[in-house]
Amino acid sequence: MGNSHCDETISDRQAEREQMVREQIITRGINNSGVIKSMLEVPRHRFVAASHQSMAYMDGPLPIGEGQTISQPYIVALMAAVLEPQAADRFLEIGTGSGYAAAVLSRLVSVVYTIERCESLARQAQARFNEMKYDNIKVRIGDGSKGWPEEAPFDGILVSAGAPGIPDSLIKQLKPGGRMVIPAGPKSYQQLTLVKKDAAGEIHSESIGTVVFVPLIGKEGWSE
Ligand code: SAM
Repeated sequence: MGNSHCDETISDRQAEREQMVREQIITRGINNSGVIKSMLEVPRHRFVAASHQSMAYMDGPLPIGEGQTISQPYIVALMAAVLEPQAADRFLEIGTGSGYAAAVLSRLVSVVYTIERCESLARQAQARFNEMKYDNIKVRIGDGSKGWPEEAPFDGILVSAGAPGIPDSLIKQLKPGGRMVIPAGPKSYQQLTLVKKDAAGEIHSESIGTVVFVPLIGKEGWSE
């Protein structure tokens, strides 16, 4: 039998999550109540290997194998917030990785389609979604730079890897009124770019900061 603090640390880490949200998310200006609630709810430590769980609530990315990373919590919260998620929305994520960002989005919208090119990561993420009963997340293995045309159009698209530019296929798969957030620019650093398609189908984009993401590799991304 352990004491209650240890039990909480081992089983759920709620106190660490609350501290993360307070110190990394709210103090940096994120005030979308749905995003805050989702970041408090989704157990980030369950999206990394056991050996990294004690670091899961630190202010940075972590390795997830295959040379890939789970993004910094603040960046996930920022990207989710600028997409202005609504309960009935259908979202697309490119770059499932650990599954964490898709899980955060899945608490905010009706369904999340997520694509991962690395089969082993996609399978691990799917296993986590099954275990945590996040059953409004649909995973596909493949090149997400081309989007998921069969399920388009989407209200929101979150690209979790750095692209040389904004893929035309993804712009086409946004609904009028839809939002996309994508790191775009050179491989060494990117502009986190918010792209909006207005009701008339016109595209408006703005940079909301500089970020460093692993590359989006695919037909409308970087070549390998
Ligand atoms: N969203 C992830 C999470 O919450 O753990 C982090 C994603 S990680 C920064 C970027 C991911 O994009 C990697 O897992 C990588 O394999 C994947 N990726 C790169 N190019 C891709 C492509 N064209 N289609 C799908 N996934 C891609």
